[in-house]
Amino acid sequence: MKPAAFRYHAPKTIDEAVALLAEVAPQDGRVLAGGQSLVPTMAFRLAKPAHLVDINGVEALKRLAVSGGKLVIGACVRHAAFHRPICEGPLGKLLSDVVRHIAHYPIRNRGTFCGSLAYADPASEWCLVMTALDGEAVARSARGERTIAARDFFKGVMTTALRDDELLAEVRLPLLPADTRWGFYEFSRRAGDFAMAAALGAYRVEDGKIVEPRLAVGGAEPSPRRIAEAERALAGAVPGDKAFRAAASAAAAAVDPMEDATTSAEFRRNLVLAVTRRALERAEKS
Ligand SMILES: Cc1cc2nc3c(=O)[nH]c(=O)nc-3n(C[C@H](O)[C@H](O)[C@H](O)COP(=O)(O)OP(=O)(O)OC[C@H]3O[C@@H](n4cnc5c(N)ncnc54)[C@H](O)[C@@H]3O)c2cc1C
Repeated sequence: MKPAAFRYHAPKTIDEAVALLAEVAPQDGRVLAGGQSLVPTMAFRLAKPAHLVDINGVEALKRLAVSGGKLVIGACVRHAAFHRPICEGPLGKLLSDVVRHIAHYPIRNRGTFCGSLAYADPASEWCLVMTALDGEAVARSARGERTIAARDFFKGVMTTALRDDELLAEVRLPLLPADTRWGFYEFSRRAGDFAMAAALGAYRVEDGKIVEPRLAVGGAEPSPRRIAEAERALAGAVPGDKAFRAAASAAAAAVDPMEDATTSAEFRRNLVLAVTRRALERAEKS
């Protein structure tokens, strides 16, 4: 099948892009970033946008830099940019570990970090990272700019706080302190598939006890989420098997897992138990 007819626009600046979006959004105009999710849905005619605003020619959206203690990731930065640590310290290593789980090499060469966030698949690895680290999304439109905290950005399956005429111009992730221990673990049926459940844990250790714990789960619920119950189980505990099992049990009890034709809620809950414990075990070795 071929996509339905659409008009193609190729802005060269952010201002041009948002002006075009203001004009075409009411007629189901969409941003085209890497095209790795949008183009297949158009080919199946699940999406029939009348206009595509291709942002790939906007140089300013290729920015990938550390600024003010944050890693700034522009809308045209591809997944593949993270194959090697992009910045010093734990954040660069974390991103280079996580990226290997996203799809396959050709898709990572084209798909973008911000496109994944805008698409908001519940199992997206970058959505989980954004949530676990409390990143910020910077939305631009002809009306101006606003910053959206990760906890307010994801609104459900493939739904975000972005308005139809807004461009997700960049994402900012906080750099992690040098002594941060972190671990990521996901379960998918085949390498490159979307995760059926994934967890990202991070913490520091002071006087032998866990401080500043972060534990987020993705793929299990409509949006990734930090699990406060699991973080409470970790805070002040001695890092090790007992604390990790307690946190994993707390996470499994706290989630309200999605069901589908092949996966029951109980199976997904058990996956959350396993991926959380394994992510924390990896953190201990990082
Ligand atoms: C076989 C296959 C396997 C995959 N496996 C995984 C996986 O394991 N994990 C994973 O996370 N992803 C996976 N993906 C999806 C892939 O990561 C996509 O690259 C990503 O979901 C979307 O990014 P994109 O840049 O390609 O966006 P596009 O396809 O261009 O756009 C997707 C949607 O987001 C909107 N959009 C994109 N960028 C912006 C922006 N800057 N501002 C506003 N709206 C925007 C578009 O209008 C569109 O609605 C897979 C894809 C395929 C085809």
